Amino acid sequence: MNKNHERIHADEKNLCKLCMSELDAIYSDLALTEDELEILAMPRRAFIVHFPVKTEAGKTKMFIGYRVQYNDARGPGKGGIRFHPDLTVEHISDLAFLMGLKCAVVNIPFGGAKGGVAVNPKELSRSELELVTRGYIRAIADFIGPFRDIPAPDVYTDEQIMAWILDEYERITRKHSPAVVTGKPVELGGIKTRRYSTALGGIYLLEEAMKERGIEKSGACVAVQGFGHVGENTARILHEEGYRVIAVSDSKGAILNQTGLDIPGVTAHKERTGSVAGFPGTQNISNDQLLACDCDILIPAALSDQLNGSNAGDIKAKIILELANAPTTTEADKIILAKDIMLIPDVLANSGGVVVSYFEWSQNLNNDYWEEEKVLRKLKHTMISAFNDVHALCREHGCRMREAAYRLGVKRILHAERLRGNL
Ligand code: NAD
Repeated sequence: MNKNHERIHADEKNLCKLCMSELDAIYSDLALTEDELEILAMPRRAFIVHFPVKTEAGKTKMFIGYRVQYNDARGPGKGGIRFHPDLTVEHISDLAFLMGLKCAVVNIPFGGAKGGVAVNPKELSRSELELVTRGYIRAIADFIGPFRDIPAPDVYTDEQIMAWILDEYERITRKHSPAVVTGKPVELGGIKTRRYSTALGGIYLLEEAMKERGIEKSGACVAVQGFGHVGENTARILHEEGYRVIAVSDSKGAILNQTGLDIPGVTAHKERTGSVAGFPGTQNISNDQLLACDCDILIPAALSDQLNGSNAGDIKAKIILELANAPTTTEADKIILAKDIMLIPDVLANSGGVVVSYFEWSQNLNNDYWEEEKVLRKLKHTMISAFNDVHALCREHGCRMREAAYRLGVKRILHAERLRGNL
């Protein structure tokens, strides 16, 4: 670590210590100059807002919301909105940084952003959820917009919440503005494929990785952690494609059947009971047992830091597809590297959603709506091009995919900064 690096690390004003840790992992490989590090080390803008909501019980409650725009050299901010009680500005900044890298890795013209409200949506009624969403958008309306920063769904936010965001933003600006948010219902300018594009984009990459590792698709054994938008769609598509999905989980529990799960049945069970746990004909297991189960492919699709120092040593999968954001701690990353597991990193693996969001934004701006076949073709092309770009860098530098993806993303962001005259 040189002096400037140490200084940025020690700088209490830097909101994103986690981003510095991410950069540390590739710092020496990339040989960043002091100026380059300075530009990457901290978010451009971070908004913290407090807004009141009148609950159904008639009480006024203050909520805290965040929006961080990490970098916008390549285009307007782009990133999801998360509703979760444990949000912090530092965590949101880290996710915004990852969004910037992600957009650069798949080469779409956006910067990185992320936001959310510190709330447990399960404790709100539907009308309170709408009031919280609208209150948050009123608080950040000046900082978002089709050419400024474009939100999308993330953990515990969905199409309906995006529809409220659109409506509130249009009420404030008094203009029709569908490109202000992506992941909207189709009827409001969304794309049907967006519902499962993160999953599908990841699966296109998985197919390329399996060719590399010589694993046959039919009968390949998969465990998926998380059974929300991403996890459930991934399990469903893989099941339809003939993979053997043997284990899935959600926040309430995990299930295993070594001969393969009936995924539509699991989905129906979750709709009925609120969890995948207890699905007939399966063994209830812990989340750590899911991560350690005997499978070819492990797909973390829940929250951050799930693969950590205490469980990474037990992973048996040959390929890990990181569909969740930051599911692997730095400690686990080192253990996984030593085990020669092929890990497709989050910045590449889960970028299918933002790629289709880019198509949605572009369609909204042009008022030109494509057939589903065109969306899928362009998604596949974009994902495979990014896989090939990352893989070429792996070969050139003898590094694994996480370093290569970071290298590519960082290189593209810095190139844009240089062209703008900031370097
Ligand atoms: P979601 O809220 O729909 O689903 C999250 C799932 O994780 C739920 O099934 C929940 O029960 C489960 N879960 C929570 N804690 C868990 C735990 N400790 N163990 C096992 N399961 C647990 O969220 P999502 O949209 O599916 O997002 C999942 C991940 O994918 C997040 O990291 C998100 O940032 C990332 N991601 C989502 C998208 C997208 O398009 N939605 C795009 C890129 C990345």
